[in-house]
Amino acid sequence: MSRVLIVGAGLTGSLCACLLRREMQSKVQIVVWDKSKGSGGRMTTSRSPDPACSTLDLGAQYVTATPYYAQSHGSFYRELLAHGVLKPLQATVEGLRDMDGTRNYVTPSGMSSIVKHFLKESGVELIFERHVTALYSQGASWEVHGKDGEREEFDAVVLTMPVPQILQLQGDVAELLSPGQREKLEAVTYSSRYALGLFYPSSARVEWPWAVRYVSDNPCICYVAVDDRKRGAESPGRGPSLVVHTSVPFGLEHLERDREEVQPIILEELNKLLPGLPQPISIKCHKWRYSQVLTAVPGCPGQMTLRDKPLLVCGGDGFSHSNFDGCVESALRVLDALKSSL
Ligand SMILES: Cc1cc2nc3c(=O)[nH]c(=O)nc-3n(C[C@H](O)[C@H](O)[C@H](O)COP(=O)(O)OP(=O)(O)OC[C@H]3O[C@@H](n4cnc5c(N)ncnc54)[C@H](O)[C@@H]3O)c2cc1C
Repeated sequence: MSRVLIVGAGLTGSLCACLLRREMQSKVQIVVWDKSKGSGGRMTTSRSPDPACSTLDLGAQYVTATPYYAQSHGSFYRELLAHGVLKPLQATVEGLRDMDGTRNYVTPSGMSSIVKHFLKESGVELIFERHVTALYSQGASWEVHGKDGEREEFDAVVLTMPVPQILQLQGDVAELLSPGQREKLEAVTYSSRYALGLFYPSSARVEWPWAVRYVSDNPCICYVAVDDRKRGAESPGRGPSLVVHTSVPFGLEHLERDREEVQPIILEELNKLLPGLPQPISIKCHKWRYSQVLTAVPGCPGQMTLRDKPLLVCGGDGFSHSNFDGCVESALRVLDALKSSL
């Protein structure tokens, strides 16, 4: 039996784990490590310390299927719809540029429920707060090092973190890269932005007619969503939640500042944009240094194999594009690499 480590419990990693389990069943033992405290990656769903508040999505907001992907990835859409993980977006969205034939879907339980669904299906051993720092080639296997001194050997390793974080790994990874591969990986660029999540008490009312509003004329804020309304998950017992995304220029301008310094600036702009907002119970501020891919790895659709034996393969939206279908595309290509190697 081959032991496979998938680094990253985001959408790419969780789908890789699920597909590998379905295709190779008992021939593989799959382990997923993630440096965070929970699954989701950039499809994270946040909770307030107060259980009476709604949850909210700080990263990805909804899933948009173009006619091409609705067909080519139809089995994934059907599976998620059948399990109630996805449902059609019905709420009012102000300022959304509708494209011919596209369909938007929301996640009643939050975007991380997509990732959790695939992790559950995979039945993998999942370890959180395990931060991979280095990989060393040991004959036919990889010795993987964690930040807290953990060391474990695997027959194959899949890396799904944003590309700049792959380039930060120590050990034999840097030596493995050919000058051409390094150049391609260094060419990847991401947008950066801040996300603010505001949790309100159940007595709070948000009276606007929309659930989502795209803002085009504000230097700081580009997106606001009443998150529970967007997902069609409003409940009288739970307070509403609001998600705010900053524009990319604002994100870049304040990228090296502390979140604590930037949060009041965003809040001030929000109160100007939506005067009369109620007082939140709690606020979360997240800096997305690697938000969405602007330039993907050129010429490597879905994955880049750094070594065949033992297999070391990189995937994620950096090798395709930043959305649900980009991650599916990458997971399918990584699966091909795993199947031909194991
Ligand atoms: C603000 C924002 C809005 C977005 N909006 C949408 C949207 O509306 N619709 C849509 O489809 N997409 C959207 N996206 C893009 C979408 O979220 C991403 O394309 C997708 O989540 C990427 O998944 P991934 O698994 O490839 O990477 P990630 O989600 O980044 O997963 C990588 C995982 O690796 C872990 N990791 C990193 N380094 C290490 C390490 N050294 N050791 C262990 N673990 C590590 C991380 O903790 C993370 O969990 C948005 C993204 C952002 C940030």
